[in-house]
Amino acid sequence: MPLGAEEGTARPRKAPADRPAGGPASGPGEAGAATGHAASGPGAGGPAPGGVADGPLGVGLPEGVRFIGPEPGAVAAWPFPDPPDPADIASCVACGLCLPHCPTYRLTGEESASPRGRIAAMRAVAEGRAEVDATFTRYMDLCLSCRACEHVCPGHVPFGRLMEHARAQVEPLRPPAQRLARWLGIEVVLARGWLVTLATVLLGPVRPLLPRRLRAMAPRVRLRDLARRLPRVTEPDGPARGTVLLLAGCVQDRWYRPVNRATIAVLARNGWRVVVPPGQQCCGALAAHHGRLDAARRLARRNLAPFAGDHPIAVNAAGCGAHMKEYGQLLGDEAGDLPARVHDLMELLDRHDLQGRTAAPFASVAVHDPCHLLHAQGIAAAPRRVLGQVPGLELVEVADGDRCCGAAGLYGVLEPETAGELQAQKAAAITASGAPAVAVANPGCAMQIAAGLAERGADVEVLHPAELLDRAYRRAAGQVVGKVR
Ligand code: SF4
Ligand code: SF4
Repeated sequence: MPLGAEEGTARPRKAPADRPAGGPASGPGEAGAATGHAASGPGAGGPAPGGVADGPLGVGLPEGVRFIGPEPGAVAAWPFPDPPDPADIASCVACGLCLPHCPTYRLTGEESASPRGRIAAMRAVAEGRAEVDATFTRYMDLCLSCRACEHVCPGHVPFGRLMEHARAQVEPLRPPAQRLARWLGIEVVLARGWLVTLATVLLGPVRPLLPRRLRAMAPRVRLRDLARRLPRVTEPDGPARGTVLLLAGCVQDRWYRPVNRATIAVLARNGWRVVVPPGQQCCGALAAHHGRLDAARRLARRNLAPFAGDHPIAVNAAGCGAHMKEYGQLLGDEAGDLPARVHDLMELLDRHDLQGRTAAPFASVAVHDPCHLLHAQGIAAAPRRVLGQVPGLELVEVADGDRCCGAAGLYGVLEPETAGELQAQKAAAITASGAPAVAVANPGCAMQIAAGLAERGADVEVLHPAELLDRAYRRAAGQVVGKVR
């Protein structure tokens, strides 16, 4: 059955999964285990002293009744391998607490544009009551994968993982032209550093031909930055604290190489010997977000050897860091301890006080929280603690700072209307902060925010926190680093 109005995506609310077992069911189909069914007979468990269940949820209830979870005997209608895990789907109890935090639900007010609605749509397919059709595809496409829902979900529903696997079902059904464009961009170009470099070089001449939105977002890359490679090894200033391996990134290294240089400089100032391992590739985040899970696995595998060893891995792009921390989900045991060694740059610097003298390059700076730093990695305090050590630099919060800026990988290009609305809101909030600069630790957000600020004619500089710190060091050393505002 196609996913349509009768079935909808808004299913009736289920009883909370943590309701004490043995209590009265609230209605037909509302009782049973959160991920299973009621126990099959009396005496299979029951309330412990004090009324709290010590056996499986649902014991004592009639056989077959369920609180929520996979329908017994249901045959899933997923058309391809790698579908969402039924246990992940079942972990959503449809409480709706995530709804006010979801940017697409806030914009549309539609259940189908909410996390709960999207999971309900996945459940319908998993139980064979709906198909992966145009309606299902639309529900998934409008999601930003910002994971704001995951961050606030009391049940820790792994929404990011669910969405990646739902998109793995959608991708092969797209029209051939779309599949070709995505394959070329994500699997061919991003997977080959030299092609990313070539695309960057060509960006200059073709810029006038690009659609307006793309033209506004694509950064102006200086060819001399592109020509100067990153040093393989940078020795620390003073006694070594240890060696750190740096993920240079694909887009990050071609479009924002000065950010990587600043990252190396700041790490070296803080006692780290910085190695940029040769042979590293795109981390595969974009491939995973777009449901190209085989490509994401290939890319992840190619990074295992370059990042082998026991050194920490520093990542300065929020989306890449979040993805590498989850290599275990893609590769299982093959990922080894790599995910545990991945640290966001600010997380790493936050382990110790900043070394050496710094001086504020701006009177104040607004702090932007990229979704894949705040929601996916749960990092908010570290950047503030690190930047807060620069004397004279006031950190300014951005109103509704936990809301996505609309960049979200290729979302800004694929869903221009929603992305544009979120971009305008973010640019307005940053401008209202009154800060002359904004710290942004993700290349997609940096492009989106810079374009949004330019659209408003706002004179606010977009900088990576590493660039801000690097300027602070150079300013303390008496170097000219632009006007102080
Ligand atoms: S995803 Fe989490 S917060 Fe949202 S409805 Fe499901 S259980 Fe509730
Ligand atoms: S990932 Fe973001 S856009 Fe998608 S459902 Fe969750 S909160 Fe909404």
